[in-house]
Amino acid sequence: MKITGIRAHILSAALSQPFAYSRAWYDTRMAMVVEVETDTGLVGWGESYGPAPMTAAVVQAVAPWLIGADPLATEWVWQEVYARLRDHGQKGVVVEALSGIDIALWDIKGKHFGVPACRLMGGPLRTEVRAYATGLYRRRAGDPAGYLAGEAAGYVAEGFGAVKLKVGFGVEQDARMARAVRQAIGPEVGLMVDANHAYDAVAAIRLGRMIEELDIGWFEEPVPPEDVSGHRAVKAALAIPIAGGECEFTRFGFRALLEQRLLDIVQPDTCAAGGLSECKKIADMAAAYGVRYNPHVWGTGIAIAASLQLLAVLPSHTPPSLAPLEPMLEFDRTEHPIRQALLMRPIEHAAGVVRVPDGPGLGVEVDRAALARFAER
Ligand code: CA
Repeated sequence: MKITGIRAHILSAALSQPFAYSRAWYDTRMAMVVEVETDTGLVGWGESYGPAPMTAAVVQAVAPWLIGADPLATEWVWQEVYARLRDHGQKGVVVEALSGIDIALWDIKGKHFGVPACRLMGGPLRTEVRAYATGLYRRRAGDPAGYLAGEAAGYVAEGFGAVKLKVGFGVEQDARMARAVRQAIGPEVGLMVDANHAYDAVAAIRLGRMIEELDIGWFEEPVPPEDVSGHRAVKAALAIPIAGGECEFTRFGFRALLEQRLLDIVQPDTCAAGGLSECKKIADMAAAYGVRYNPHVWGTGIAIAASLQLLAVLPSHTPPSLAPLEPMLEFDRTEHPIRQALLMRPIEHAAGVVRVPDGPGLGVEVDRAALARFAER
């Protein structure tokens, strides 16, 4: 089997109403989907996280190197692309583009052997995953304490066992919102907070101390990813577990975070940190260091499917036992017109639990009509 073509699809969809996290407003959702074609007619799908026009440009530039290559040789492809661009692209859009290609090759590999990708990675260790609801963003109008509490209670009613609140809007306001959400969901449901690195260590520690009493599951990206000593200070000051890593890349990037134990929970994005090939390696490194791994997930159904294939082979957080603590799926609940439409059978949850797709490859089928409908023109 040979690779005969690699295409980068840039997709976009307008939102019915904008929403904000700590650093920006969104009024559009974009996605970059990678399609790899082979001489046997098998096609694989992948997705890259990150700025779609830039990751698409990298995929297009890299494609000629891979025409004629064996799509099953995922290690060869990964090392070839990484080595050729090492001097210029150890992180960021280059590795994001490579992630999309790698995922598409695992889709082909699974289809070729007639099994889900997780089987080829030695799984499944689990066939379903507990999901937490990512939402609780800001809206243009209304009292946030009111609408955030209402939204959070809705997730609990749907059966989610944990929710994640966006913070980074000012320490006092964040603490007020966290209290409102905790009150709305009750003491039994998990509550995590995510600042998207809007704070420095001083502000992050101040917020952490104010919300520690609310039993916070983790404090995600309290400080910018480059701020090594800031991470150390926040981690030393707070009893709340510290999470992060959606802006880090490859085993080489995660090595320092793990060696210095700057995080309690690493969150590589499968569509950014290097694809399924690389994220399995990062997961094994995290296990060696005794650091929990919960993937960052922010994309279409293809990204969710790839993340679920990886989740199926992640080690449990605590060692195998009668009641091990298992990794969770980040399940984006914000408006994303492309996310569900792109798959013939969208990935849904039932009472906060999502099944790992068990069809060949990623286990999903892409709707070409939706692909055409959302194509950026
Ligand atoms: Ca995040």
